[in-house]
Amino acid sequence: VEKFAQEKLFEIDTLNKQAVFRREFVGNLAHELKTPLFSVQSYLLTLMTDKQMEQEVKAKYLKRTAKNVERLVSIIEDLDFITKLDANMMEINTQEFDIVALIVEVFDMLETNALNNKVNLHFDKVYFQIKVLADKQKIEQVLINLLSNAIKYAQKDSLCTVKIEEFPEEHTVKIHVMDQSEGISKEHLPRLFERFYRVDKGRSRGKGGSGLGLSIVKHIVEIHGGEVGVTSKLNEGSDFWFTLETV
Ligand code: ADP
Repeated sequence: VEKFAQEKLFEIDTLNKQAVFRREFVGNLAHELKTPLFSVQSYLLTLMTDKQMEQEVKAKYLKRTAKNVERLVSIIEDLDFITKLDANMMEINTQEFDIVALIVEVFDMLETNALNNKVNLHFDKVYFQIKVLADKQKIEQVLINLLSNAIKYAQKDSLCTVKIEEFPEEHTVKIHVMDQSEGISKEHLPRLFERFYRVDKGRSRGKGGSGLGLSIVKHIVEIHGGEVGVTSKLNEGSDFWFTLETV
């Protein structure tokens, strides 16, 4: 009877925790959607009611409206992606590919972004081919999310360095994305990969992210059986890393 009671208590505790998590999640989601939605609503109202508005102002308001709609779409797309990952509805197409070449592709993809923010993307040394076993498209997503963050939160005129550590005996590599940003203080690090968790709520939202980037990274790496982590020093920068299986 005691064992039965203990099991039930454990079950109740888990259910309570899940209920808190769900409440928090729905609350966060509503908040994330509310901000851009209210902006769209107020710009549209102004555009509809102010008949004398100058063309220039009109164009500015329309541009802001479009930007907010873009934010909404990106939140919904990220949510859709994460829900599919959660429900195991996403197929994992494991294949052999060269991770060095993929990183170069992502560098090229983000080049304009990096240039605009005056961030220099580079490797810590010259790497030749390193074959890994994973879903290439999803790992590309991981790299895009980490490198976009490194660019987004970096200081101007700084370096973003990718380092690949090889562990031949364990058949793994550890990919580091290191930036020179404002850094993240210790108390935030354990919660950083949670959905919608942000260090500086106002500022991060201003930078246009959905708040789901890192939780998508964690999901993708974990379905591959890998690990993710971060170390960071305030005013110096951060090192986001993940592991992958090698061939
Ligand atoms: P967001 O869309 O807000 O960027 P993420 O899930 O990608 O969402 O990141 C969560 C939070 O972690 C960000 O809001 C930001 O506060 C912090 N963060 C992520 N990457 C970095 C980084 N490279 N440097 C500093 N802070 C970061």
